[in-house]
Amino acid sequence: MGRETMRWWGWGDGIGEFDPIARPYFLPWVQKKIGLDGKTIKPVDRSTIHLPEPNIDVKFLDNLKKVLRADQISCDEDVRLCHSYGKSYRDLLRMRMGIVSSSPDLVVYPENHAHVEAIVRLAKEHNVCLIPFGGGTNIVGCVEPRENGKRSVVTIHMGTMDRLLNIDTKSLTATFEAGILGPAIESKLNALGYSLGHIPDSFEYSSLGGWIATRSAGQQSDAYGKIEHMVIALKMASPAGTLITKPTPACSIGPDLNQVVIGSEGTLGVITEATVKIHAVPSHKEYYGFIFPNFASGVEAIYEMVHSGYKPTMIRLLDESETEMAMYTGHRVSTTKHLMQKFQKLVVSKLMGYHTPCLLLMGFEGDLPKIKTSRTHCFKLCKKNKGISAGASAGRKWRKARFDVPYLRDFSMDNMAMVDVAETATTWSNLLNLYYNVQATLSKSIAKMGLPGFVACHISHSYENGASLYFIYACKMIVGKEFEQYNYIKGLATDAIVKYGGSLSHHHAVGYEHQPWFAEEVGETGLIALHGIKKALDPQNISNPGKLMQTEHPTPSIIDGISINSLNIDWT
Ligand SMILES: Cc1cc2nc3c(=O)[nH]c(=O)nc-3n(C[C@H](O)[C@H](O)[C@H](O)COP(=O)(O)OP(=O)(O)OC[C@H]3O[C@@H](n4cnc5c(N)ncnc54)[C@H](O)[C@@H]3O)c2cc1C
Repeated sequence: MGRETMRWWGWGDGIGEFDPIARPYFLPWVQKKIGLDGKTIKPVDRSTIHLPEPNIDVKFLDNLKKVLRADQISCDEDVRLCHSYGKSYRDLLRMRMGIVSSSPDLVVYPENHAHVEAIVRLAKEHNVCLIPFGGGTNIVGCVEPRENGKRSVVTIHMGTMDRLLNIDTKSLTATFEAGILGPAIESKLNALGYSLGHIPDSFEYSSLGGWIATRSAGQQSDAYGKIEHMVIALKMASPAGTLITKPTPACSIGPDLNQVVIGSEGTLGVITEATVKIHAVPSHKEYYGFIFPNFASGVEAIYEMVHSGYKPTMIRLLDESETEMAMYTGHRVSTTKHLMQKFQKLVVSKLMGYHTPCLLLMGFEGDLPKIKTSRTHCFKLCKKNKGISAGASAGRKWRKARFDVPYLRDFSMDNMAMVDVAETATTWSNLLNLYYNVQATLSKSIAKMGLPGFVACHISHSYENGASLYFIYACKMIVGKEFEQYNYIKGLATDAIVKYGGSLSHHHAVGYEHQPWFAEEVGETGLIALHGIKKALDPQNISNPGKLMQTEHPTPSIIDGISINSLNIDWT
């Protein structure tokens, strides 16, 4: 049963760290790119961090002890620390600096639905707040207590609910407890010949319940959809009672209650079980790379593939900057191979005229004849749009390194880089407009701080009607103004995303970091509807308060009391 969390200041458990000796090209490249000066910074010593005194509701605790064993309830400082924040750049920065102003007062470890029901009932009786915690990987402030000592806050660590409860191989569905993490889902299903196929970049440490509560998207979404397309039934313990939906393939009984729960970010209750669609483990998997002369031609190739009826199961297009970064994050190669790679680059640049190439990665999974047909069609469409094959080795490399990015972020932060992301989705007809405008805003915001910057983007989820855009940006940390710098860039990027027609988020959710833009995104009537559901299921606002649809309206473009322009930069 999983009680583990990642290390308090970074990603993973310390084993999979980014190794600058095995991957020697990244540091010199990033230093030059964003003007890092070789200085490094480590997280503060754990012993210097003092959490706020726990605000424990004694009567609640006494009653809880009648339901849970003593070892299922923890007030330990290390445990509370690891459940304080998620894993955004800002979360890691605060942890690394030892700034932990909010922390749960207790952490509990339920082992079944009845335990969760009892916790929710007692929380309601004693007006105690509850925060469901899956893997704690969200990056928008979803699991952070926001009560500031007003009410007692209990974090429900869901990792101890990780069983496969049922598998129906005829109907191709499986029912899991919601705390199960990605690798356990796949290993349990794979052992029986099946797969869910939901592989977000945070796969190693994120949970089924967390995916559902945030409307997560995985790397194979082109084949299997986002998590909201995979869930067919749910069980959720809410303060108003337990909501159970039926596992049927479709229904016509009013608004879809599964979709009300999906994306609710723990604000309506605790998802304890979910029934999801599964499929047979693909007999073959093939991954390839193609080089395009620019982002626009890669986008056109994706558009045509998506509409051809032979869509790959995975598509990822890196823009010019992200392709450049990918070239420098690889492992050390022999001198001969290094020279060969340089020669290949020269050929692509000088002979083909692809001076700033874009890499498109494609995956095909399934049975061999089907793969062959799709591959033939997709390769044709890539070539038609000026794509040159980079072979299977580009695909293999991506698959091997596909969970490495968060370790790279920790390493970059050690080297005093500010590195963050922003993501959105829009229609095909608006895609390049949104891309160019957000890219320009990010570049301008970094330049306005007088810093050299890195701004990159990729497409990793595509649909009939449009696609997602995932921006990555980095610059040197401004020492002493790290949070102002973060809010400045994040605020302007999000303003631009909304202004140029993108969704506020495609898969990272709202938490409290996206709240300043939420009311405008859903509109006045939308807010009334959402508040109505919240009030009906959680009238005391004990379920993850302060997230998603807050009761009071936050000031636009202010995150945590720091306005976008607290650096006083002239934006004209
Ligand atoms: C490096 C990195 C890469 C990422 N890549 C992706 C990606 O490829 N795709 C993607 O979609 N996201 C990605 N994310 C974001 C994050 O992993 C997702 O939001 C993920 O779905 C969160 O799952 P979790 O189990 O960690 O949830 P948590 O972070 O623990 O919780 C997230 C929210 O869900 C609620 N919640 C959790 N469990 C339950 C439950 N059982 N019942 C009710 N509410 C619950 C929490 O209260 C909280 O509001 C990434 C994040 C990082 C740091």
